[in-house]
Amino acid sequence: MNDTCISFNLDNNLFRGRIVRLDKVLSEIFTHTKYPDNVAAAVAETTALGVIIASLMKFDGIFTLQIQGSGPISVLVADVTSAGKVRATAKFDAKAIEDAQALRKTEGEIEPTPHWLEHGNLIFTIDQGKNTELYQGVVDLQGKTLEECAMRYFKNSEQIDTYLHLYLRKKDEIWQSAGILIQKMPTAGGKDGEAEEDLPELWNENKILLDSLTADEIFTLDLPEVLFRLFHEHQVRVNKESEYTFGCRCNREKLQHTLSSMRPEDIEDMVENGKITATCNFCGQVYSFDKGELLKH
Ligand SMILES: [Zn+2]
Repeated sequence: MNDTCISFNLDNNLFRGRIVRLDKVLSEIFTHTKYPDNVAAAVAETTALGVIIASLMKFDGIFTLQIQGSGPISVLVADVTSAGKVRATAKFDAKAIEDAQALRKTEGEIEPTPHWLEHGNLIFTIDQGKNTELYQGVVDLQGKTLEECAMRYFKNSEQIDTYLHLYLRKKDEIWQSAGILIQKMPTAGGKDGEAEEDLPELWNENKILLDSLTADEIFTLDLPEVLFRLFHEHQVRVNKESEYTFGCRCNREKLQHTLSSMRPEDIEDMVENGKITATCNFCGQVYSFDKGELLKH
């Protein structure tokens, strides 16, 4: 019940929103791979953002949020399928993170995700399978927090006013992440004269209400209750509740295909005791191949 995203409307459809909380999905991600705290925090936050953005998009396939940077964390990936399967992973340099924290005397502190990526991009991809066009959106990683970066994406690429908060909690060694987003509907302020006049004021009120939400509330209360407490004066209406579970799509055939396409000399370099082994970054599954399986064609 804890890996949920709820879609809602405010003020008679002038605004739409999403609220998400992830719990077991993160536990699974962190069972398969152990990350230093700062990387775990970045993965948890990226996954919450990935689920929120995926839930705003209409697609049948895979949504991927990828963040690439030049810093100690070089890649963060979270992908979400239309069936609600979520997985995430990170590429990072543990030594560089440790050294940077020692230098800044910030050991034990969680620093904002963009801090660890430095210069880079946020990339959104929707893959709906063969014979469909890949949708891709890219924005510079500019902003102190991941929230700021995501809001820039919506403003610049989609011209939609968006307001967003992300939350993290680590309790008894267990990570949770959550987020809440509101957007002006593309039609808001269009037809109805009265609504148009009130729009800036209503938007500001909702932003202020969203600012008042604490991590404690979003992690302890039921999400519909959070929404009611925040927005009961704004005709909050819950539309849909979607569940998410951890799921990886790796398989032996796909991996064999990828490895087989490498140069024979590179395959030779990977051989150990006549075998080539590869581990899935998302789920930790180990695959083992005989050299002959990869070189035969
Ligand atoms: Zn896997």
